[in-house]
Amino acid sequence: MIEHTKTSAMIFGEVASSGLARGPAVVCDCAEEVTVPRRTIEASEVPQEMKRFDAASFAAEQDLLKLQQQVQRGIGRQEAGIFEAQRFLLHDPLLREEVSSFCLAEKINVEAAVDMAVKKLTSVFVQVEDPYFRERAADLRDVGKRLLDILTKSQLPAIPIFPDGSVIVTGELLPSVMAQLDGQTIRGLVIEKGGQTAHATILARALGIPLLIHVPDATKTIRTGDHLIVDGLAGRVFINPTPTIRREYDRLEADLQAHQTALKGLIDLPAVTRDGVAIKLCANIGKSADAVVAATLNADGVGLYRTEFVFLVQDHFPSEEEQYQIYRTTADRLKPREVVIRALDIGSDKQLPYFPSPPEANPSLGCRGTRLLLAHPEILRAQLRAILRLSATHPVAILFPMIGGVEDLLAAKAEIEAAKASLAVEGQAFNPNVPVGAMIETPAAAIMTGRLAQEVDFFSIGTNDLVQYLLTADRTSSEAAGYYEPLHPAVLQMLGWVATTARTKNKNVSICGEIAGNPALTQLLLGLGFRSLSVNPGEILEVKNAIRATSISQAEHLAKQILELGTIQEIKDCLRALSAGKELRTEAQP
Ligand code: PEP
Ligand code: MG
Repeated sequence: MIEHTKTSAMIFGEVASSGLARGPAVVCDCAEEVTVPRRTIEASEVPQEMKRFDAASFAAEQDLLKLQQQVQRGIGRQEAGIFEAQRFLLHDPLLREEVSSFCLAEKINVEAAVDMAVKKLTSVFVQVEDPYFRERAADLRDVGKRLLDILTKSQLPAIPIFPDGSVIVTGELLPSVMAQLDGQTIRGLVIEKGGQTAHATILARALGIPLLIHVPDATKTIRTGDHLIVDGLAGRVFINPTPTIRREYDRLEADLQAHQTALKGLIDLPAVTRDGVAIKLCANIGKSADAVVAATLNADGVGLYRTEFVFLVQDHFPSEEEQYQIYRTTADRLKPREVVIRALDIGSDKQLPYFPSPPEANPSLGCRGTRLLLAHPEILRAQLRAILRLSATHPVAILFPMIGGVEDLLAAKAEIEAAKASLAVEGQAFNPNVPVGAMIETPAAAIMTGRLAQEVDFFSIGTNDLVQYLLTADRTSSEAAGYYEPLHPAVLQMLGWVATTARTKNKNVSICGEIAGNPALTQLLLGLGFRSLSVNPGEILEVKNAIRATSISQAEHLAKQILELGTIQEIKDCLRALSAGKELRTEAQP
């Protein structure tokens, strides 16, 4: 969508890494296709061509290893795993098979065969509904481009060098190019394609570079040298903005900087309300870079370690030892704070490429989370043993996702006991009293809070899923988005009920769904009875700011008022009225 004003143009995109960036545009094709030479060969030449493929594959492996080490040093171990996954794609027997059969069937040289094989395999990826798979197509194209660069001895520089302070505008950004932007002073990125969970996006976030994706025709609308303002908060790009727009953004930038500086002043202050009630403010993490940010921002611990990322960046189930090492590295970064490690939560919208779930008509109502782990105890056991071994030296807790009732929990706890027994037989140390928690993500679990409390040490409410199941509105569907509403009175009533019930049973209850990270809702959540929140690292300071501006008595009054309302609109109006007149304010800016 392009909206032209008299003097400047504005185009829209989706925020994938937030922030504000300004600078001259460099329009390029970072996924530039190599010109693929094509010639006809005799069948007898195929073995020779495949030898060339193997040699190129070996050279590509060396390049990827180097890149992996570079990213590990510069960004983090788990981000480096992206290139380990690319090495697996490179060595996927299917790729070699496809190349060889194209050589044979089409009687073509290996370069042309690689090109056709990669196009064929990526076309399969992009048809898959799951965005995770779709976005792996970029990884495969990246691998294919590397092979073709080697085979054609392309003279193109492997690392594009951009002028300092530029904003890169490109059709697609491959992870390997993104990784190599580390060290260059790129201000922002505007991409026509891309995805929220694409590896290039993950790297941009880790590097703190604002990124807009799905910006249609960006490379046609923007020219190199255009002055750009990338608004990675609202999702728009101004091309050659007018002086009035520039002044607006000067002001916004100054406000943001002042706010950020003021927020930084909160890092060492406790998350305590105005009337002196301490709130436990933890971080949700998925990869090692998050753990570093969480520690830097002084989170009280990790309330949710989503271990899916550990499994997603591999092409096989990580062994117990591999998992132990990864969890230990993460826990080391946070020590002595507690890390709540969630057992692998796959199924439905979270799939592992190497563990495809059998098709189900309603996967979000099917075999997922703890159910799936109980159906595949070998996966659960390896993970529990890894976590238990870590519990000997680090304060960790185990959290089970998607608990449906007491039966799930008893079966999962029996697996913990079995894992403990096997470690004891081997003489391996563990904490026999490692805390165990249940996620409240299903209405059934919420209703059973009182009984489940007899079985666990703590609860964590996953509102992302609880909202979808309570309101029967798919969290991944844009059609159902209007019905997926965390401020629905039924959701708030249920949250209040769980908080009160858990408290009467003397069990800690935290919220780790996205709702907890919205500072506009902090007062309401405290009023509903929550004293523990777990939020994305980037939200910690904003939420702490909101906690420190709240008094529990006022918060309880607000919650009481809101629980009496019957519609979403009334609730929103009430919250809006509350925030009206409130400015972006922190204590450091009296
Ligand atoms: C949730 O459902 O709120 C939650 C935290 O789990 P996830 O988003 O990983 O499903
Ligand atoms: Mg969930």
